[in-house]
Amino acid sequence: MSIAERDKKVIWHPFTHLKQAKEPIHIVKGEGVYLIDDKGNKYIDAFSSWWVNLHGHANKYIADKIHEQALQLEQVAFSNFTHTQAVTLAERLLKHLPPNQAKVFFSDNGSTSVEVAIKMALQYHRNKGDKKTKIIALENGYHGDTFGGMSVAARNVFTEAFNPLLFEVIHIPAPTKGREDQTLTQLEIALERDDICAFLFEPLVQGAGGMVMYEPAMLDIMIALCKKMKCITIADEVMTGFGRTGKFFATNYVTQKPDIFCMSKGITGGFMPLGATSCTQHIYEAFISDDKSNTFYHGHSYTANPLACAAANASLDLLEKEECHNHVQMISAYFAQMKTRFEKHAKVIDCRHIGTILALELKTDEATSYLNPITERLTEFYLKRNIIVRPLGNVLYFIPPYCITNIELMLLESTTADLLESL
Ligand SMILES: *Cc1c(COP(=O)(O)O)cnc(C)c1O
Repeated sequence: MSIAERDKKVIWHPFTHLKQAKEPIHIVKGEGVYLIDDKGNKYIDAFSSWWVNLHGHANKYIADKIHEQALQLEQVAFSNFTHTQAVTLAERLLKHLPPNQAKVFFSDNGSTSVEVAIKMALQYHRNKGDKKTKIIALENGYHGDTFGGMSVAARNVFTEAFNPLLFEVIHIPAPTKGREDQTLTQLEIALERDDICAFLFEPLVQGAGGMVMYEPAMLDIMIALCKKMKCITIADEVMTGFGRTGKFFATNYVTQKPDIFCMSKGITGGFMPLGATSCTQHIYEAFISDDKSNTFYHGHSYTANPLACAAANASLDLLEKEECHNHVQMISAYFAQMKTRFEKHAKVIDCRHIGTILALELKTDEATSYLNPITERLTEFYLKRNIIVRPLGNVLYFIPPYCITNIELMLLESTTADLLESL
């Protein structure tokens, strides 16, 4: 029996329409920007394996560091115990985060990093004796698949089965071009309420919502409005962090500094699952109390797993190198050029670019949504040309590992030109 056949017998894949699912590709090896299947086909991983990979697959430096750590200490409970990798990682993350960030709380994925942020904000107010429980979030947002993450996200096909059970959130439009005034008005109205706990957002790019982008100036104004009204601001940098947008964090584009940061995905260079939530000293202090009910009772078995922290420290070693910075700039310049080339194309409704992310919103006959059947056509088109993409409905995007070369980018470009002519 082939792996695909054995897979079908025992595996339930994520986000997969069970009736229409095609046979999964059996990947046997990763090598830099490439994924290689059991038949020896080599594909460019143009979506960084769900936006997590930074330095390429099977990167030897990171692999060696995980190996070293595994022989030293593979896991220890993180309550009452600590270890060097976690402490070093927290110190290094804080160096990259704005100076208002003081403490790092580890978990094990993006959803949990958001869950932790929401619970921190809610309990901060509860510990202070305030009845502030309402969260403001952006329409069309995505923050993970746990109940907290779903609650703050857009209500759509992802959450439909659970909508009645999700807690109520105030959704305001993302401040995209033409909607700026609407966003600010609705934010100001929401902030007038006396039960507002926090404002949570994906900074500058709404990833799963279709790589929707908005201007740093708008984010600056929104955070400033929240600060004025003493509303906690939470930046979900799970997708945008670690260089994706051309700066270390997307919020580095703005002068106002959020109170809480959620990090995951690229944090380990795409090697190990790890989540981190950082906060200000001020928030942390609301949990220091003689009253035990003020304790933050949250944790996961694998919180701050040493192997994951070792991978993250190794990834940071690479990320902090001039060479990596130059690669990111090279990709960014290339994508800027691709945007100029394709944005006027008759089949392109909108073209968006920031850093290592390029998105093309395509014209289709069908309604534009995540379930748009063009998704399969696009995926097939690129797959036949040995490129892996994972469009979001009619939004085609590239978010490659930073080690992608100029020649590979040229291949993405020429294939995209062919695609647009074929539509
Ligand atoms: C992917 C994502 C999450 C969820 O992360 P998981 O590791 O998949 O749970 C949360 N927020 C944003 C912005 C994301 O892109």
